[in-house]
Amino acid sequence: MSAFDPAAATAAYMATLSPAAHAKATAYTHGGEWLLLWSCLVTIAAAWLILKSGILLRLRERLNPNGDRPKRTILAVAATFVLLDFLIQLPWTIYTSWWRERSYQLSSQSLASWFGDTAKALPISLIITTLFLLALYTLVRRAPRSWWLWASGVAVAGVILMVVIAPIFIEPLFNRYTPAPDGPVRTEVVKLAEATGVPHDKILIYNGSKQSDRYTANVSGLFGTARVAMSDTMFKQHADMSEVIGVVGHEMGHYVHKHILWFAGFMCVMAVAAFWLIDRLYPAVRARIAGTSGIGGLADPAGLPVLMIIAAILGLLSTPLSTSMTRFAESDADRFSLANAHQPDGLAKALVKTIAYRASSPGWLEEMLFYDHPSVERRVRRAMEWKAAHPNHVGAPYGPLPPGA
Ligand SMILES: [Zn+2]
Repeated sequence: MSAFDPAAATAAYMATLSPAAHAKATAYTHGGEWLLLWSCLVTIAAAWLILKSGILLRLRERLNPNGDRPKRTILAVAATFVLLDFLIQLPWTIYTSWWRERSYQLSSQSLASWFGDTAKALPISLIITTLFLLALYTLVRRAPRSWWLWASGVAVAGVILMVVIAPIFIEPLFNRYTPAPDGPVRTEVVKLAEATGVPHDKILIYNGSKQSDRYTANVSGLFGTARVAMSDTMFKQHADMSEVIGVVGHEMGHYVHKHILWFAGFMCVMAVAAFWLIDRLYPAVRARIAGTSGIGGLADPAGLPVLMIIAAILGLLSTPLSTSMTRFAESDADRFSLANAHQPDGLAKALVKTIAYRASSPGWLEEMLFYDHPSVERRVRRAMEWKAAHPNHVGAPYGPLPPGA
């Protein structure tokens, strides 16, 4: 009989954090769950203010009095909406994405640096949102019955394009990416890459410590632009090799199993449902909140705030679906790491470090509704169960174990 008990090993990992640290993580996590609701309400309030100001309606009437200049009207109305919405929500955005992270000691970024990032992101989102809305409103006008189907195709194609170009055009605006430096970490990561079929010219290190002290790595890009990027926090915290390999093995799982394509398929289904619902709900919502204002049907860009209010509510309601989708992929990446990197304790040690920003042991309903990763306790438990089932393969050469092992 094996002396190794996965339940006891999991409990020991959980106990490496003090009860006070667990309590703080739980407060941060529960606060973050409420933020989903508050952020939805703030988005609705901002859209409602813009609607009631009548600015978009006046803009549309001035630019397009005869109804023959739809394109420039859509562009101007959409850009105005994006900018006003950004300004109205700015205090809330500062609170949620800068002040709150700082107050929980999860980030040490200065407000000036945060504003620098935000100022760089605004024109990008302005251009992308405006062009997307131009396509959306053009489809509504040209295909009033089936626009929602076409719009879903445009949305998914747009997201795939963004995923492909993000590592080249977007991410370098915010962080500096360089090939991982020579040394023992790189040597081991290259070995793991060779054993799992990941191109090892694609292993980068970036200055993630600029935004956050989080211990993190990610896979981004698609086709030729896909790569594994590791935050420099993984090097600064003197992570031991088993941790680095456990985490990078997880990220390579995302890459090898093409999880980005899973998300694209999932997004496609979600987009069809969302646009169809907007098509059905818009007339009633418009009648209720903008009844006699002069705002027209779905094709009227001045009705954009109405559309955004519906989208915000649908986004909130779909949270459990999208978190469950990512949770599924995260479990799969953990399985890949265990099966190919063979470092259950390395993975567990790295996971325990993430408890500070994601409470380790939620109830199943909370996990199902809100967690985009399985809980750390569950993930550590699975790693310990793998260890119990493979006592002779911990630290084995990288790559799949022989059948029956
Ligand atoms: Zn992951």
